[in-house]
Amino acid sequence: MDDLNTETPIQQIRFSGIEKTGIELFMKRDDLIHPFISGNKWRKLKYVLQDAKARNKNHLVSFGGAYSNHLVALACAGAIHGLHTTGFVRGEEVSNPMLSLCKLWGMQLVFTQREQYKNKNALFTEFFNSDAQAYFIDEGGKGGLAAQGCEEILDGVYGFTHVMCSVGTGTTIAGIARQAIKKGMIAEGICMLKGAEAIDAEIAELAGLPVKIHHGMSRGGYGKSDPELMAFIGTFASETGILLDQVYTGKMMTAIVQLIKEGYYKRGDKLLTIHTGGLLGLMGVLE
Ligand SMILES: *Cc1c(COP(=O)(O)O)cnc(C)c1O
Repeated sequence: MDDLNTETPIQQIRFSGIEKTGIELFMKRDDLIHPFISGNKWRKLKYVLQDAKARNKNHLVSFGGAYSNHLVALACAGAIHGLHTTGFVRGEEVSNPMLSLCKLWGMQLVFTQREQYKNKNALFTEFFNSDAQAYFIDEGGKGGLAAQGCEEILDGVYGFTHVMCSVGTGTTIAGIARQAIKKGMIAEGICMLKGAEAIDAEIAELAGLPVKIHHGMSRGGYGKSDPELMAFIGTFASETGILLDQVYTGKMMTAIVQLIKEGYYKRGDKLLTIHTGGLLGLMGVLE
């Protein structure tokens, strides 16, 4: 298995006068795992790829939006491992740098009407039923094997009171929560989808325990951006050197700063945020 190096540094964040609150803020730089299979995406794919190989499947099939970090990661990981990849892309045929990268790594793209896209199993069956080599990976790579990989985010990590990450499918926070409880840390997710309170039950089931998910902090919903968010990303970059993306990690950090300022955490707390990557998406919106 061509493993990527997942031993990433933990960096203290001195930002926006947070030290004065008596709360210490840190970030685990999983964005440094790989430029394109970044953040949580390698973690989510690791055991999925092992499973595919064990079953002698050489064709990975998955699903995502036109700006899916998961499809980019899958296309690149597939190329590294000598596996074919197909990505079903939600919506009308479009082109953008992320999809172009997918194609460079040899991914076959199938643009799919939103109605058909909803039933992923039906799509897989329709296109690949007769292909014994095809291996189904759910949208965004979500699922139990992916959560298993995300448990390893906390390997060798001790001494924090809380660990937070942003939530799309919730797979990453579910894996983190499984490890966090063994280490006496509180795991918290910041949900990037609007009105998605139902996800709490899914995450609890995947994690095998209840997990605190903060809702109402998605700044208008998934993929929505605003000038204050972009200004925050700029200030954060200039004060810490760390780039955040506007879909996940930037919104997570605006939420954490807000929670700190609202007094949600207490003096002496040591917070570990996970940088889950996604920086390719930032390139598309910078002018
Ligand atoms: C995919 C992604 C997430 C969400 O992970 P889930 O396991 O789907 O909750 C968070 N951050 C970034 C940068 C991502 O690309």
